Amino acid sequence: MTAVADNLAAAKARIAAACARAGRDPRFVRIAAVSKTQPPDVVAAAVAAGADAIGENRVQEAAAKRPLVAGTIPWHLVGPLQRNKAKLALGHFDVVETLDRPELADRLETLLGLVGRVLPVFIEINIGGEAQKSGIAPAASGPLVEHVVARCPHLRLSGLMTVPPYHPDPERSRSQFAALRNLGADLTARFGLPPLELSMGMSEDFEVAVEEGATWVRLGRVLFGERRTLP
Ligand SMILES: *Cc1c(COP(=O)(O)O)cnc(C)c1O
Repeated sequence: MTAVADNLAAAKARIAAACARAGRDPRFVRIAAVSKTQPPDVVAAAVAAGADAIGENRVQEAAAKRPLVAGTIPWHLVGPLQRNKAKLALGHFDVVETLDRPELADRLETLLGLVGRVLPVFIEINIGGEAQKSGIAPAASGPLVEHVVARCPHLRLSGLMTVPPYHPDPERSRSQFAALRNLGADLTARFGLPPLELSMGMSEDFEVAVEEGATWVRLGRVLFGERRTLP
């Protein structure tokens, strides 16, 4: 096995243990291998090892790497998207996890409408209300959901994503993960949506996120080791 395959197997075992603690079925927790800064052969190893998706946070980096990685698993955009990169992003990503404003929804809708394609999107929530962070405030998420549902037939609202405020102790993030789960339940009920995916949890806190209901965890360093320096 490659190191990545070993690491993925170990992460799956930790997810299964977290699911057992929470009384959840581990089949409902999927892994996006976040491969930013990793070269294409390492990304390919994650695909071969059975990651459920590849996550990248920069559009141009993904555009350069994806053609060099075989396999059909979906690629998720987990970093911020500028409107002028929307077209390039649609060429290389299957899911956008970082929808955070109506203008971006409109830009994606226009591009998708031209080719008759439907894109699954997650809304990124700034769950901790941090000034520097991307994502929409929880209180503003209702109007954005309404906008997507009413005006963007080529966007399929599939989930919520968050990166909570950083704490060295992952227990400190538990309430933030629970808040995302509760927001998802609220929005689902208010807008009559199917259940929303919850993309939450990274290398240092994914077990707590799984205990609190994550259906996607985004794992980078725990699978790939430390990030490389970009050329
Ligand atoms: C880099 C990144 C991750 C993975 O982070 P690790 O701590 O390396 O697991 C997850 N989500 C987003 C949005 C990222 O940018």
